Amino acid sequence: MIRARACLKCKKYILIHPNNPVNQVEIKSFEKKHLSHTIMTVGFGEIKGIYTSFKSNGVSKPSEDRNITSFEKKEREIKKS
Ligand SMILES: [Zn+2]
Repeated sequence: MIRARACLKCKKYILIHPNNPVNQVEIKSFEKKHLSHTIMTVGFGEIKGIYTSFKSNGVSKPSEDRNITSFEKKEREIKKS
């Protein structure tokens, strides 16, 4: 089952991909943003329609996007060697 981290206060969520290191970074930034709110792990089916996707809503700051991009580049370099 697909799971997500969801903020009950903001009605926003981010999907969890356990084997994706880029996703781990995104989840950390999501948790940082909603640190004082109530975050819980839920099944994706429970939140679909009620919550807004963290990413597609354009909530991420440009600086964070850059961090994720450079992280992806590093990942690719590691895979190449
Ligand atoms: Zn929140």
